[in-house]
Amino acid sequence: MGGGVGMGVGVDCDVLVIGGGIVGLSTAHALSRLAPGTRVVVLEKEAGPARHQTGRNSGVIHSGIYYRPGSLKARFAVSGAAEMVKFCAEHDIAHEVTGKLIVATERDELPRLHALVQRGRENGIPVRELGPAQIAEYEPEVRGLAAIHVGTTGIVDYGRVAAQLAESSGAEIVYGGTVDLISRRPAGVAVRTTAGTVVRSRVLVNCAGLQCDRIARLAGDEPGMRIVPFRGEYYDLVRPSLVRGLVYPVPDPAFPFLGVHLTRGIGGGVHVGPNAVPALAREGYGWGTISPRDLGDELAWPGSWRMAARHWRYGTGEIRRSLSKRSFTEAVRRLLPAVTSADLVPAAAGVRAQAVLRDGTLVDDFLIREAPRTVHVLNAPSPAATASLPIGREVARRALAALAAG
Ligand SMILES: Cc1cc2nc3c(=O)[nH]c(=O)nc-3n(C[C@H](O)[C@H](O)[C@H](O)COP(=O)(O)OP(=O)(O)OC[C@H]3O[C@@H](n4cnc5c(N)ncnc54)[C@H](O)[C@@H]3O)c2cc1C
Repeated sequence: MGGGVGMGVGVDCDVLVIGGGIVGLSTAHALSRLAPGTRVVVLEKEAGPARHQTGRNSGVIHSGIYYRPGSLKARFAVSGAAEMVKFCAEHDIAHEVTGKLIVATERDELPRLHALVQRGRENGIPVRELGPAQIAEYEPEVRGLAAIHVGTTGIVDYGRVAAQLAESSGAEIVYGGTVDLISRRPAGVAVRTTAGTVVRSRVLVNCAGLQCDRIARLAGDEPGMRIVPFRGEYYDLVRPSLVRGLVYPVPDPAFPFLGVHLTRGIGGGVHVGPNAVPALAREGYGWGTISPRDLGDELAWPGSWRMAARHWRYGTGEIRRSLSKRSFTEAVRRLLPAVTSADLVPAAAGVRAQAVLRDGTLVDDFLIREAPRTVHVLNAPSPAATASLPIGREVARRALAALAAG
């Protein structure tokens, strides 16, 4: 039993995972498969799994078409998408491999669309190039100059997947356990929650999503990045019959965001979004939620200012579309001319945990860093839900190596 940092009851384990989102739970699941008998505890601050990014996303099983060949994103998304479909089938979780269209609506998007075809082929993804008439065969209401059809994209509810991972992992999962103190020991780490629970572990894994930089610093490690939160707002489409499947614009390669898309969810409704606006709190799901601490931290990070100086033009457009439904509708109408403002009703938003370096670079790839007896997941944005099974395995391998090193 623990003790030493603060008061309260303690638990001893081999690996302590902070964060019960899909990455933390997938890590716990992988540990149980790779090294049965490893004592794993997951500390999650909310009352259940998947209350932040994992439960507030587009629910898309991404094919991996967008990502630079050789990157962790490309490797893990392509294999992760196939594994995710298999996992859902094995556990009877509703999912569907729908395919999707990426549609160019302006001439200047055509070279980027063509580059995506090449990239998809390099990543081993089945893609088909379409002209306007063929676009209409897939999506009669969608207009575009050209498109590509990606066969392996699918849809699922990642909240359901996370709950299943929690159950299958056999780990002890402590909900309502907000970590607020981490103390390194000669033989491991001791962690205290705000409720006074103390967990002593030989190895620590940080999967705290929107709070991962803070957890790294609590552990005494300077991560060299900070999380800058970007909210993604959604609307529900009142006339879901306007869209059959998944329709995406051609993304701007300067940003790790995919642009406002139309997504038929597993429940049959169609989501429109998300945009990408700076959030005024890390867990700020509307403009009304403002955290002075989060804003203060963000403004104190030189990378935030450098990023803003570089990308203010893009940011201004996104904020305009957030504050004006008419501007948002106009953007959607480029893909779906029949949509009107009355067709769009606000739906729940999500906030992306985007790592930004000191020089203002938005970290594009997944970022996993190690410190003694510790593994930190410092950037796990989209498609990390798709890629969660291979990411979890990679993190688990590193945690087991740290365990073996003694
Ligand atoms: C708007 C949006 C759309 C997206 N669309 C897709 C998509 O279609 N497909 C896809 O693959 N990916 C998508 N993503 C990305 C995907 O949702 C994330 O990559 C993924 O959920 C990350 O999981 P995670 O476990 O790292 O983070 P999270 O789910 O945020 O989990 C982190 C957990 O850590 C907990 N925590 C934080 N601090 C503490 C603490 N001090 N103590 C204890 N617990 C703590 C939090 O409560 C939280 O539950 C989207 C993301 C967003 C925001």
